[in-house]
Amino acid sequence: MKIYYHPHQALHNPQTYFSRGKMRDPQEVPQRVEEFQKGIKSAGFTVTTPEDLGFDYLTKVHGFAYIEFLQTAYQEWHEVPEDWGEEVIPNVFVKDYNALKGILAKASRYIADGSAPIGKHTFESIYWSAQGALNAAKAVAEGEKVSVSVSRPSGHHARREAAGGFCFVNNAALAAEYLLDHSDAKKILILDTDVHHGQGIQEIFYDRSDVMYISLHGDPTNFYPAVAGFEEERGEGEGLGFNINYPFAHGLSEEAFFKVLKRAMNDAKIFNPDVIVHNMGFDVYKDDPQSKTKVTTKGMGEIAKEVMALGKPVVGLLEGGYLIETLAANTESYIRGLAEK
Ligand SMILES: [Zn+2]
Repeated sequence: MKIYYHPHQALHNPQTYFSRGKMRDPQEVPQRVEEFQKGIKSAGFTVTTPEDLGFDYLTKVHGFAYIEFLQTAYQEWHEVPEDWGEEVIPNVFVKDYNALKGILAKASRYIADGSAPIGKHTFESIYWSAQGALNAAKAVAEGEKVSVSVSRPSGHHARREAAGGFCFVNNAALAAEYLLDHSDAKKILILDTDVHHGQGIQEIFYDRSDVMYISLHGDPTNFYPAVAGFEEERGEGEGLGFNINYPFAHGLSEEAFFKVLKRAMNDAKIFNPDVIVHNMGFDVYKDDPQSKTKVTTKGMGEIAKEVMALGKPVVGLLEGGYLIETLAANTESYIRGLAEK
């Protein structure tokens, strides 16, 4: 099993974020990648530095102007003569008509909420997180049964043209597109077991049947991303039926979580994908500050085993998970689960 991580993924160092009426202490901190690495090591694996596969898939999944914005926003923000604070965090959010005059207008268009601050080194982390996902996809395309990427910053909330929810570039979407282009795979399943709905993945593949998205997550009513992730969102056009959401009641037991996962895996069997991209969020952990369910450390390994049980190659992306003290143990459990078969 190849596991990818680049040291520049630790450079993104958010100072604050705005959520639910308050400025809050960052949860998506650089220490998370240290914990991921500890867990990987304890499971008996080492990390490989990804090779640079360039910008092609970043600009295939996202608009060119959006990627350019991510790259230049910090510098433009600091060229403004007034003190706007260290990080790019807009206070205006307008997706539709926007003349894009000035950095505040661009930030208003390309950042969807208050939880995706752009600092001095954020883009370097985004770029190498994306390369890790592409390298993991490449390893599977070249015959590995399972490969993993330390996916920080995470990707599943990143929309085609907007950052949000700690996410900037949609790593799962990059992996799926890479596999469709560079392997015999015709059908990709993106399975998302993070406690939050991945509205970015849903948006990107909503009208497609070659990439199915299945997500189980806490009911998004008054819970991030709030505006998407409901059962009735089933895809459109050719993609109708290929987007499946399983929102669950907050406080769900571990046993009930695995029942929902079984239902998702039954859908997966019917779709019969050639490859599974698994968006793993450790924020389903029972004590995670974001959690709405009660999955244990042992359960992280059980999730991996359920995914592997389909008998398909797997690209695992280590995304959410904010309880620092248990992130290493939860990672170890997940990696061991992937390695077992
Ligand atoms: Zn999450």
